[in-house]
Amino acid sequence: MWIAALVALVLFAALAFRGFGFLAWVAAGAALLLGWRIGGVAHPALFLACTVVLIALAALSGVPLLRRNLVSRFVMPAFANVLPRLGATERIALEAGSVWWDGDLFGGMPDWNKLLAFRVPPLRAHEQAFLDGAVEELCRRLDDWEVYQRRDLPPEIWEFIRRERFLGMIIPEEHGGLGFSALAHSRVVTRIASRSVTAAVTVMVPNSLGPGELLLHYGTAAQKQAWLGRLARGEEIPCFALTGPEAGSDAAATQSEGVVEKRVVDGAEVLGLRLNWNKRYITLAPVATLIGLAFRLRDPDHLIGDVEDRGITCALVPRATPGIGIGLRHDPMGVPFMNGPITGTDVFVPLDEAVIGGRAQIGNGWRMLMESLAAGRSISLPALSIGAAQLATRICGAYATVREQFDTPIGRFEGIEEPLARIAGLTYLMTAARNLTCGALDAGEKPAVIGNICKAYLTDGMRQVITDAMDIRAGSAIQRGPRNALARAWDAVPIGITVEGANILTRSMIVYGQGAIRCHPFVQKEIDAVAHADLAAFDRAIFGHINLFATRAVRAKLLAWSGSRLAGAPEDSDLRRFHQHLSRFSAAFAIVSDTAMGTLGGSLKRREKLSGRLADALAYLYLASCVLKRYHDEPKTRPNHALARWSAQLCLYRIQEALIGVLDNLPLRWAAALLRLAIFPLGARFRPPSDRLGAEVARDILEDREARTTLTRDVFVPPAGEPGLGALEAALDKAVRAIPIETKLRDAVRAGTLDRAPGHMLDDLGLAAGVISRAEYDLLNEARDARDEVIAVDAFDPEVFRHLH
Ligand SMILES: Cc1cc2nc3c(=O)[nH]c(=O)nc-3n(C[C@H](O)[C@H](O)[C@H](O)COP(=O)(O)OP(=O)(O)OC[C@H]3O[C@@H](n4cnc5c(N)ncnc54)[C@H](O)[C@@H]3O)c2cc1C
Repeated sequence: MWIAALVALVLFAALAFRGFGFLAWVAAGAALLLGWRIGGVAHPALFLACTVVLIALAALSGVPLLRRNLVSRFVMPAFANVLPRLGATERIALEAGSVWWDGDLFGGMPDWNKLLAFRVPPLRAHEQAFLDGAVEELCRRLDDWEVYQRRDLPPEIWEFIRRERFLGMIIPEEHGGLGFSALAHSRVVTRIASRSVTAAVTVMVPNSLGPGELLLHYGTAAQKQAWLGRLARGEEIPCFALTGPEAGSDAAATQSEGVVEKRVVDGAEVLGLRLNWNKRYITLAPVATLIGLAFRLRDPDHLIGDVEDRGITCALVPRATPGIGIGLRHDPMGVPFMNGPITGTDVFVPLDEAVIGGRAQIGNGWRMLMESLAAGRSISLPALSIGAAQLATRICGAYATVREQFDTPIGRFEGIEEPLARIAGLTYLMTAARNLTCGALDAGEKPAVIGNICKAYLTDGMRQVITDAMDIRAGSAIQRGPRNALARAWDAVPIGITVEGANILTRSMIVYGQGAIRCHPFVQKEIDAVAHADLAAFDRAIFGHINLFATRAVRAKLLAWSGSRLAGAPEDSDLRRFHQHLSRFSAAFAIVSDTAMGTLGGSLKRREKLSGRLADALAYLYLASCVLKRYHDEPKTRPNHALARWSAQLCLYRIQEALIGVLDNLPLRWAAALLRLAIFPLGARFRPPSDRLGAEVARDILEDREARTTLTRDVFVPPAGEPGLGALEAALDKAVRAIPIETKLRDAVRAGTLDRAPGHMLDDLGLAAGVISRAEYDLLNEARDARDEVIAVDAFDPEVFRHLH
């Protein structure tokens, strides 16, 4: 009998592990029965009970008619009570976009071969040419310090941006734009951001949510004809006004209003909108010529239909329209891109011309915005963050080699090595996320959850990287001036954190909330079935869900107990173990998430500390996938191997911490205890990247020129004569060539051939004693001069200082 029980258990586990719930129950029941028939049993009653239970479970999971009438019929009403209550705007926000690799991660059984086989299309020839041509030229012409002082881009830069169609990157060529892929668009913004955040934001905004994108997807033929060419050529500067004093994160609460009315204009009766609004924080507003506006449309006189409140609608309003208050500027952390409030008082526009998409799209504004953001969040702010991160890597890698204290380049101190590794590792991870996500967008996906992950976690990555970089550069990072590009990146960090959905809200509510409903294989189906009182659909969904939970529970447990070794992983990958660990955590995440939903029901929506941690787990599962994919797609160099391991290790650790955080705080303690036993049977064993691995990563960006260049390939490198990064790069060259000569001198001091002496006095002694040659002596002097230049900071005449920004 025990053999039969064992066989039943193994069969059940093996089939459940592969995701076959029904077969698992059937096979286990059959094995027990067979054992009984062949070998007899010692405890027939117990045996019979087990067999009956198994067969009942198999029958329930495999015979829909039975389970529908015996179970689902009674469960459905109870289920309706625990489902989260969703408002119309929430529902629209949740429904926006598509589900991609996030669905695999949520399902608990990611297919790595599918991910690795996915092809991220490279830049096309004309995109690469633009990057090497117009973008390089723009960066060359930009002097960000000057931009700060004049509080605007110079007119010739504005002109260049318009002429080269930087404002029309997303507009297809047939409408006069550049028609770029998401990857090209992102890389353009990244490179500009590494030079000037002001210029990057200026280019970024017309290419993200706003008139251009809305017209492309929803505009009428006449509207496209009227505006797209002008927008692409920069003849119109667009802005998009959603946020107001009353409507920030809760943008749907806008009190901006458009009332349908008829007026006589130039002797003819016009059906139009009387608009009143008060918007703030609007990027490009002070110079915008075409305002995209979100407002609530009302039709009190029923001129266009029976319903008075038609909901959020988007319209285009030309700047010259009477009643618009525009031109004032906010000062966003001193970063001088155009940003300001706009008001409208009884602004009248013809309805059919103004409403984007015409009458058919009245009331559809919220859906339009959410759908556009689903894609857009993956591009703009992640690109800006990567620009800042790559710049920080480039600067710190050089500075920590060039800057010496205690007679040693500061990069050799372990204390500096630690943040350096974080800077390099996070830069690798963030760029990996950009590459894969843009690849998905270019393949036609609009992965909303992934977009939110990229927005929140990449801007947060930027915050960490810039903070570390400031600490490494210390005093020289704090003294503002043309030499100090980092301080300007620092100014931009809170902007990235706040715009397009502030990070706290995005992390604690949106990522997991949207993920739970959209990416989960069954939750959306359950909600829809309950909403439509469709018992058959509910039955399929709920039993699919139960099956999923049961099989993933078995899978998570077996993977945890086997140290993830039972998980399938790409055979040829030298990061095979990371794939396996991620499979384990994907299954663990699936059951923790289901338990949280099952035990907290609709109230999970308010438990943002829990949903924030679940968001962390999902986000780091995704980010780690991006890292493994990047490593797979790029040359398998030693530095890439170290960077990929560092980043993947960090992700595993953060997933573990997030899941443990959920288990520690799940209200139903016995459920938490059972889960802990299943997914962390031997405790929390993942650690952050080791000191040794961190040292390897840091050494590479200090000493391996190619590794540092590859990691920061989007950065614009200014000419050697320019203070800041240009001079730093030149100094690094010289410093690297001087290293062996300095080592010679140090060795001589150690051997007692030379007396100890500071700086150039030691060079003199070395030359006199014949330890170094004249040529070596000259090279040391050159390197010292170059170092002096890059460790110098700016100082200003008091009169000049009084007028500095
Ligand atoms: C420089 C800049 C440029 C901008 N450009 C534009 C633009 O071009 N067009 C436009 O329309 N808007 C623009 N915005 C507005 C931007 O999108 C909003 O600032 C943002 O959505 C947050 O709104 P808020 O600042 O009013 O913060 P609030 O909504 O007041 O939020 C305050 C805090 O509460 C958190 N929070 C809110 N609700 C929740 C919740 N349910 N759970 C947990 N936390 C929550 C937020 O995360 C935030 O941390 C811009 C803003 C800035 C700063």
